[in-house]
Amino acid sequence: MANPSAVRQVDRWIEAHKKDLVDLTCRLVNIDTTVPPGLNYPKISQLLTAELKDLGVRPSVSYIPETMIRHRVSPEVGLKGPRPNTYATIRGEREGPEILLNGHVDVVPADPSGWTHDPFKSVVKNGKIYGRGSADMKGSDACQIYSLKSLVETGVKFNGSLTPTFTTDEEVGGYSGVNYLIDKHVITKDVDYCLSTDSGIEALHIASLGDAEYLITVKGRAAHSGRGWTGVNAIEYGASLIEELKKLGVQVGRRRSKIDAEPIYGTKKMRPGLYVNTAKGGLKGNIIPDTFEILVDRRFIPEEKDMQVQREVERVVRDFAAKHREVKVAFKPVLGYDPMLTRPDHPLVRTVRKVARKVLGRDVPPCGSQGSTDVSAVTALGVPVVVLGTTRLDSNIHGIDEHVRIADLVSITKILAHTYLELL
Ligand SMILES: [Zn+2]
Repeated sequence: MANPSAVRQVDRWIEAHKKDLVDLTCRLVNIDTTVPPGLNYPKISQLLTAELKDLGVRPSVSYIPETMIRHRVSPEVGLKGPRPNTYATIRGEREGPEILLNGHVDVVPADPSGWTHDPFKSVVKNGKIYGRGSADMKGSDACQIYSLKSLVETGVKFNGSLTPTFTTDEEVGGYSGVNYLIDKHVITKDVDYCLSTDSGIEALHIASLGDAEYLITVKGRAAHSGRGWTGVNAIEYGASLIEELKKLGVQVGRRRSKIDAEPIYGTKKMRPGLYVNTAKGGLKGNIIPDTFEILVDRRFIPEEKDMQVQREVERVVRDFAAKHREVKVAFKPVLGYDPMLTRPDHPLVRTVRKVARKVLGRDVPPCGSQGSTDVSAVTALGVPVVVLGTTRLDSNIHGIDEHVRIADLVSITKILAHTYLELL
């Protein structure tokens, strides 16, 4: 149970530092960390390192080795430059539980045409901060920093430890900074609780979908269209394969998880899917195409296992290839995230829900996200994870004029700080 006077103290501190919280959010947004390629990670790492130093600790920066990226991420993803991951540990008075915090530092691309302002020059207007990544999730990163500052600066007592980690490449959906910190044993199964702020303020995410992308290549034989019968048309064969994949998609789309989905998604229970999302082929109007590439995006529920999901798609591809020996069909998994699941009745879920109800004056029901996240790798270690952040449906994350409400930044900062006081 948190000491009520400590809670009041951190609340007062957070209210008094609202402007600094806004300022940090803006400075983070102004560093263009668009991925791919993810070129400005060293800049944002420097800023975060300076902020963490203010907490009186020595931050660490771990770079994902280039060989690792080459090995784990397909070149077609287009990652470039150094990939520093920034973290620190703040220790309380005595031994106690270990809390891991995580936020990603990368953002999705923004096409400035259509934006009211430059997406990488933040603008504060009508209680909101506009800019790419303001909601997803640099504002939420700033909340983590200020929640920690509120503890350190007020000097309230706590036990155990807090480890904020700011990581790269979440938006790519492959080998991210979180995966690297796990491989490096910075994040281990010894963590007692993990809080991520990479989501919205309306619900508490305890689950997310797994995501697997498969690249299927159909190889035929090129020929001059005038003698088209001598070629093997990869696009035409590929179109038939897409029909087979769609049949599997219909089956998959009928499945449901036991976990409630967040109401905004328009499905009562978490729901998987299989979609053909890119198709590429053909060189010129007078050439029978010899290559056709199909990218399948398979979103899966926590009850489905990645290998079982992969085998289902592979079976369709194999059956097709067996029936059509004139073409060669290759199958390659390109990237993926595991699904995430923390028990809805886990003490971490109950604590954050209780604290959020007090700060927001309403319930944040535990439910599943129809998105996918790299913190699922932390649940795979057996660590409970909950996700609560600053986005709203109208924040327009990944869209034009993305923004975050300053009031929500303050609320999430308080919810984090209160949660630490409850758990530590
Ligand atoms: Zn995000």
